[in-house]
Amino acid sequence: MNTMETKEKQSEVKNFINGKFERNGQTALNVESPVDGTIISTIPMSTYEDVDKAVIAAKEAFKDWSTTTMKERAQIFFRYRSLLEEHMDELTKLIVLENGKSYGESKAEVEKSMELCEFAVSIPQIISNEVQEVSKGVECRTERKPLGVVASVAPFNFPNMVPHWTMPNALMLGNTMVMKPSELVPLSVVRMAELLKEAGLPDGVLNIVNGGKEVVEAICDHPGIEAVSFVGSTAVAKIVYIRATSNLKRCVALGGAKNHLIVLPDAHLEMTASNVVASMSGCAGQRCMAASVMVGVDKVQHIIDKMVEEAKSIVPGENLGSVISAAAKERIEGYITAAEKAGATILVDGRGATVPGKEGGYYVGPTIIDHVTPNMSVASEEIFGPVISIIRAKDLDEAIEIENGSNYGNAAAVFTQSGGLAKQVMDRASAGMVGVNIGVPVPREPFSFGGWNE
Ligand code: NAD
Repeated sequence: MNTMETKEKQSEVKNFINGKFERNGQTALNVESPVDGTIISTIPMSTYEDVDKAVIAAKEAFKDWSTTTMKERAQIFFRYRSLLEEHMDELTKLIVLENGKSYGESKAEVEKSMELCEFAVSIPQIISNEVQEVSKGVECRTERKPLGVVASVAPFNFPNMVPHWTMPNALMLGNTMVMKPSELVPLSVVRMAELLKEAGLPDGVLNIVNGGKEVVEAICDHPGIEAVSFVGSTAVAKIVYIRATSNLKRCVALGGAKNHLIVLPDAHLEMTASNVVASMSGCAGQRCMAASVMVGVDKVQHIIDKMVEEAKSIVPGENLGSVISAAAKERIEGYITAAEKAGATILVDGRGATVPGKEGGYYVGPTIIDHVTPNMSVASEEIFGPVISIIRAKDLDEAIEIENGSNYGNAAAVFTQSGGLAKQVMDRASAGMVGVNIGVPVPREPFSFGGWNE
């Protein structure tokens, strides 16, 4: 399928309820491609009633789905994983179209979704019930039961992968689901639903309700939903966590990030420069694991010079995708301007980037800002763009103090050739995921993913 065909096919996104796509007169919201600013689709702005319909379908489907064996459920995910592989090119192009990532980054996302399915089908091998004779002739057992209808709310930055963080595991374990994709990138999950149906997923097991805030609020409030998984910004994660748990639902809410990479003077020059720059610019910096602050300890000028060289080889529209929207471009450029006004030095300036032939697209070039201080907004707030702020520190203690001072704590990393110094950062960094000599320290299954603090 080429991009043009994809555009025609997706001219109107519908909700997916009980195995059927439907649209019921809800108001429509345009969906824009950030690649060139064209309108590629519309979505329904659904209401509580739409969520209610999805929950009724999911509750009905739960009766049979939860009593099938895990082995049977796994067969569907084996077939679905093969379909993802078969449709790799089409699914990749859909991500490029709706999110603006490069083809390679988008393909990696689908590959990760396949890996997540592989993990889900291994669940029967890794979970087991426990039985113990607790006193003479008396046995106790622990059994794992599906909760019922669960919900998943996704952000815009990984239209294919983040829905696969939750959907395969939740369904493999016998739950049924209401999924709410980001209104900015609703297309990938349409194909997810179609391919799951083709793989044999029974109607009602997965339902998709499109829209914005109102859908999420309905999910948090609906008495038929047992658990909510949210991935998005910290501000909304807090709202969702408080609202869902106040309704006595289980809730896991992953928020935003401000990841610090500590670079020591003994770090390997080429490897460090290329890792730091790739971390801050990959997916146009729109990854919750992206490097946002580099804390340069003592004499690291040679590494910064090399980073500048690396960043200058990154060209928007060629090896750097777009950011998600006009508002995102404006926000990111606003942060760069604020840092400049506050006295920081812009070593590489990505403001005002345009791509010939795609003038309507939203591009920001890679940006390196030096001599940032911890009180500047670029140092403390999530920018979510291809921007790195360099804070200079005199020694490792000061660097760790700067990292610990952040309200966020998704990831941190250290670049050094000293095992002892690396261990100090591993022990003292205030982040859920800590890497050594790696710019994007993402764990892979079966290790869990999760941040600390905000
Ligand atoms: P967002 O918080 O704006 O939106 C996420 C979801 O919440 C969307 O489906 C949206 O429709 C809904 N939403 C938005 N405002 C709402 C409101 N007031 N009430 C209820 N629901 C609302 O996030 P985004 O801009 O789509 O995604 C980027 C953010 O996600 C970044 O902060 C990034 O760090 C974060 N993120 C975190 C992780 C992680 O694992 N921690 C992973 C990916 C993205």
